[in-house]
Amino acid sequence: MHTALPTRSVAVVLGTRPELVKLAPVVHRLGDAARLVHTGQHWDDAMSGRFLQELGLPRPELLDSIGGTSRAVQIGRSLEQLDALFAADRPAAVVVQGDTNATLAGALAANARAIPLVHVEAGLRSHDPAMPEEHNRVLVDSISDVLCAATPENRANLLAEGVSPARITVTGNTVVEAVRRHLPGPDERTGLLARHGLVPDRFVLATVHRPENTDGPATLRTVLTELAALATDEVPVLLPLHPRTRARVEADRLDHLLASVRVLEPLGYGEFLGLARHAALLISDSGGVQEECTVLGRPLIVVRRSTERPEAMADFAHLVAPGPGIGRLARHRLAEGDHGLRRLARLPSPYGDGRAAERIARLVASAVRPAADARTLPLAA
Ligand code: UDP
Repeated sequence: MHTALPTRSVAVVLGTRPELVKLAPVVHRLGDAARLVHTGQHWDDAMSGRFLQELGLPRPELLDSIGGTSRAVQIGRSLEQLDALFAADRPAAVVVQGDTNATLAGALAANARAIPLVHVEAGLRSHDPAMPEEHNRVLVDSISDVLCAATPENRANLLAEGVSPARITVTGNTVVEAVRRHLPGPDERTGLLARHGLVPDRFVLATVHRPENTDGPATLRTVLTELAALATDEVPVLLPLHPRTRARVEADRLDHLLASVRVLEPLGYGEFLGLARHAALLISDSGGVQEECTVLGRPLIVVRRSTERPEAMADFAHLVAPGPGIGRLARHRLAEGDHGLRRLARLPSPYGDGRAAERIARLVASAVRPAADARTLPLAA
């Protein structure tokens, strides 16, 4: 692959599973120009190693001693190490995505050395100050040179905060192309369902990992109790367990609540998408799943008190706080049956046309070479 940008001139800084998923299409577009830096925020095989391979990403430079530390320590250590990397080998631009501690550290490191900064998935707002991610987003947006808003709603959030329209472009969300590229084909999906002993449209797929749902034993107990009550022989509930949630279940001695759900290890991306594509219902507190459900055409119950992704709500997804509302809403959506699923399959995703990464790569090129006409720069296919 080749690009008009110099080899390894664009540092793509990331640290968690959703960043790998959503930045992979951008890295592919940048081709040899991309230089991947992983902060190690979630660094193990289940959450990162296998994703690098599955998503076809190059080997990253890996920072040291970040995982498992507090938010401030993660940001501080990442920033110091990124600064050393950027001092030794200055990138022409830095790309970050989303709202993690890695995102904020990457943004601050670019800012400290006056390197052009591109924020992918800019302008999301939950307006919930209890979420560290909300602070990360606001801070990163305030110092980014190029703001890639996934939707017009995200752009409107930025304009409402006084961001100059010249800094914002509505690109769509790269999750659309990630899903299209990694969703296994129909035959592979049939094999996948058979391996798990599942009937299409007759199972629930759930994920839970956010601190607000896992860090207090009472809330985690409520969520797991609701999932357990929903599981039947005809409609099993699958729960690929995030390492954070597994650790909390063990520490809080909540294992007995998992007896009636099918607990799985965290799944690879293609496998997760393949199962999600045929789930009668998704239940999740994940940000990425709120977007993916709109591409897969599957209903979702979002177990959270607020969302920064209102675009998916109503048709595809419903927001519900941890409590009996989970089961109530789940049964309501499940009762819509095949008719409900057919209706969703006809609706377009609010997250764009699957060309976001192409637009973002062009914006990166124009940030590196503001004088050149970026639209004419050839990019890797
Ligand atoms: N995902 C996965 N395997 C799993 C569970 C989730 O590949 O077992 C994917 C999911 O499709 C989505 C991403 O991981 O793309 C979401 O990551 P996570 O929920 O950790 O973070 P969030 O999206 O909430 O920031």
